[in-house]
Amino acid sequence: MIELDKRTQEMLEEVRSLGRTHIRPMGLEADRTAMPPPVDHEFYLICTRQGGLVSRMIGADESPNALDWKPVRNFLVGEECAYWDRGVALSLPGPGLGGPALRNTGTPEQRQRFLSIFEDHSKARWGAMAMTEPEAGSDVARIKTRARKVEGKHGGDEWVLNGQKMFGSTSARADWVVVWATIDPELGRGGHRAFVVERGTPGFEIIKIEHKMGSRGYETASFVLEDCRLPAENLLGGEAFYEARKGFKASMATFNMTRPLHTAHGVGMGRAAPDYAVDFVRNEYPAQGRRRQRALERLARIRRGLHTARLLYLNAVWLAKTGQSNVLEASFAKMYSPPVILDAVATALDILGEAGVRNDLLLEKLYRDVKILDIGEGTQQVQRHVVARQMLNMPGS
Ligand SMILES: Cc1cc2nc3c(=O)[nH]c(=O)nc-3n(C[C@H](O)[C@H](O)[C@H](O)COP(=O)(O)OP(=O)(O)OC[C@H]3O[C@@H](n4cnc5c(N)ncnc54)[C@H](O)[C@@H]3O)c2cc1C
Repeated sequence: MIELDKRTQEMLEEVRSLGRTHIRPMGLEADRTAMPPPVDHEFYLICTRQGGLVSRMIGADESPNALDWKPVRNFLVGEECAYWDRGVALSLPGPGLGGPALRNTGTPEQRQRFLSIFEDHSKARWGAMAMTEPEAGSDVARIKTRARKVEGKHGGDEWVLNGQKMFGSTSARADWVVVWATIDPELGRGGHRAFVVERGTPGFEIIKIEHKMGSRGYETASFVLEDCRLPAENLLGGEAFYEARKGFKASMATFNMTRPLHTAHGVGMGRAAPDYAVDFVRNEYPAQGRRRQRALERLARIRRGLHTARLLYLNAVWLAKTGQSNVLEASFAKMYSPPVILDAVATALDILGEAGVRNDLLLEKLYRDVKILDIGEGTQQVQRHVVARQMLNMPGS
């Protein structure tokens, strides 16, 4: 195993300490009340510790030239935060899924304008990304939210958005949301455009916050866009960017970083389960008994699976950081990890027996949390499609 640099080790230690004292308890409370943690003193304590480093680290930094520890560190810190509670980790301030979209597609001016707001850690700010619609989930090419270019009231171009988005993580609290729309559904993937919609823009309205089975530490929301007018500068990447199929490619490139990050979170959550069960086995089963030995064998198998999932996401990150294509590897990580993670929690529950299903214990909550993880960023079936398209060298892959 490679040795982590000193800063990464310090960061992980910091998260562990915060995790024990704040992140895990806040996550259990959020699950019980079905409400994300309030943005109060305790919340700010997490956000501002070490100059806000913890909350900033949770988002993935995809600068392609960075072959140093920092990018890998972000993912490892993300994994560790999710170990304590993924929902709370995602509720912490930062650009969220909007970050990769902005970094992949935004112009330098847009990156400066929308990402620099996160540098002031005394204020909690969020970003978000909205692709999913009532009739476009896995098949993102079917989005219908319409973008029309019109003449601005004071000259120059403006854009008008109309449509509905759903399941946008942290959209309800976001300072801005990257919204994917189409200039013409007939153009399919080639019609995709991304816009930054700022909070308070007339026509942008949150209509529903979902009650989820798990991962309740952060909210997912539906919103509508009704004649929502945006200045030309809010078209992500600018007009020149959207030649041929570049719009769709940009949205897909975003997933090449968010899929490994999703996997990192899953590995963190999955690790929490065998750790819990090991404590149980240590305390409850006789030292030399067969029952103990069988349980530990099952847990060893789980640890192997989680370790493999970690290597898969790190490999995908490393390829991206070194400027190489990681489409396959990002999908491998996302495809491989959900069953392994679900199995980790299910096996831990089995080992605890009836004690495991009590809803005042972590495992029952974890089971609901990890099930939901499989859906976002493309399900396993969708990842198989991605891999198949790559194998066939199909356009758009
Ligand atoms: C907690 C949570 C947070 C989310 N956050 C965001 C967010 O921030 N932004 C955002 O844009 N979206 C977000 N989503 C939405 C998520 O990306 C979608 O739910 C996901 O893309 C699946 O879409 P769907 O739910 O419409 O399912 P469907 O696309 O309807 O899929 C249903 C089932 O059919 C399968 N399936 C679909 N197509 C095929 C096919 N061609 N072949 C074989 N099987 C297929 C799928 O694998 C799945 O099992 C979030 C979802 C959740 C649960």
